[in-house]
Amino acid sequence: MSDLFTADFKSTPYWWDQVPRPVLPDGSLPAKVDVAIVGSGYTGLSAALQTARGGRDTVVLDAEDAGWGCSTRNGGQISTSIKPDFDELSRRHGPERAFAIIREGQKSLAWIADFVAGERIDCDFRVAGRFHAAHNPAQYEALARRIQNQPKGLEVEAQLVSRAEQRRELGTDAYFGGVVYARHASVHPAKFHQGLLDRVLAAGGRVLPRCPVTGIRHEGDGFLLQTPQGTVAARTAVIATNGYTGRLTPWLQRRVIPIGSYIIATEPLSRDLMARLMPRDRIVSDTRKVVYYYRAAPDGSRILFGGRVSHGETDARVSGPLLHAELARIFPELASARVSHSWSGFVAYTFDELAHMGRRDGLFYAMGYCGSGVGMAAYLGMRIGQQVLGRPEGATAFDNLDFQSRPYYFGNPWFLAPSIMYYRWRDRAGR
Ligand SMILES: Cc1cc2nc3c(=O)[nH]c(=O)nc-3n(C[C@H](O)[C@H](O)[C@H](O)COP(=O)(O)OP(=O)(O)OC[C@H]3O[C@@H](n4cnc5c(N)ncnc54)[C@H](O)[C@@H]3O)c2cc1C
Repeated sequence: MSDLFTADFKSTPYWWDQVPRPVLPDGSLPAKVDVAIVGSGYTGLSAALQTARGGRDTVVLDAEDAGWGCSTRNGGQISTSIKPDFDELSRRHGPERAFAIIREGQKSLAWIADFVAGERIDCDFRVAGRFHAAHNPAQYEALARRIQNQPKGLEVEAQLVSRAEQRRELGTDAYFGGVVYARHASVHPAKFHQGLLDRVLAAGGRVLPRCPVTGIRHEGDGFLLQTPQGTVAARTAVIATNGYTGRLTPWLQRRVIPIGSYIIATEPLSRDLMARLMPRDRIVSDTRKVVYYYRAAPDGSRILFGGRVSHGETDARVSGPLLHAELARIFPELASARVSHSWSGFVAYTFDELAHMGRRDGLFYAMGYCGSGVGMAAYLGMRIGQQVLGRPEGATAFDNLDFQSRPYYFGNPWFLAPSIMYYRWRDRAGR
């Protein structure tokens, strides 16, 4: 497999080739601000945009370069982002709350389209539609039942595609049909992040990269944040660290499960081949619990293919060939296509598979997007920013949901490997 990688192979995100990590003006840490935000991904920047435009002196601090986390590493697929279905949510929270949570997901999808257009963010945003593929016949039947019995008032545009019609959507016979969700969208994740960053800076917000927050404590009626560059006093602080949440906030660390998500880009492929494999240029995912997701690059030149390929966390040079093998299983024509980029990032799962936001000990937070955070992180970041400003429109269906942990869980997911083995077995067994 030594010739699987191109000569110019990179273990950094494909997106960074077009949008390198930003070089920000050297800024010193302010002594005092109104709002300090930890984490410069979609959540942190979207919150900062609200508070800076709301007239609050705002600083965003990141341990690495701006947007170094998932927000410039992801697959750029945008959905309604809610994993549990209406029945499951109704069992847990009652039908009214279930309805509101699913509506919130739908609002996040509508919001990002309006936001990108309203702000004129140049980020290859497109309502591409998603082909959600059934990996076995039982899953196809389940998808059919699901779209025929959508909860009243929560119906979405969805079209069932049989196996016989499948090649209209995707150049493969590996699936058993699927559903097209017409409103799901795609974006260039790093361009979207850069657009957010530019707008935060234009609004007067400051963003300080390579400035890890190492401690945070109450001081007066606000907080004191410690960094290697000194301390900053903030009236309000927001934690936006998602899959990189660490010892800084032990209560949150016990509630999010960091899981590596891995992705590759192929070398450029011919136009004919791309048109054959992805005739509708949709985003694609499948019904496996350990899901694969993929799409064409925004310029249509290649395929970006992601998923979880190992039980424990691994290296991009190990995950690359494993993802490629799965890609070639779906598209045998790609067996000899080489890999130009292979990279990964840490998403944050939660024990109830829902995102969480709110306030704990005075600290605001939004996180736990369970691998579906492109639209939702930007949306809940916006909402938490509004909450910081005390605006009623900041209220969401996620407010005051019980944010669960588990006994003996302190942030190191020792149960991950056995869980993935179990889910993979279920996927194979056709459950
Ligand atoms: C490979 C991959 C593919 C994905 N594909 C999709 C997809 O197609 N669709 C989708 O919806 N979602 C996808 N996701 C998930 C999505 O990218 C995330 O949910 C989203 O970007 C989360 O944004 P965030 O701002 O909350 O966190 P992040 O963007 O991860 O930002 C968190 C930041 O916090 C910083 N930080 C942590 N601790 C500290 C500290 N103590 N001090 C200062 N800074 C700190 C980190 O350096 C990091 O930059 C994918 C993720 C990955 C990794």
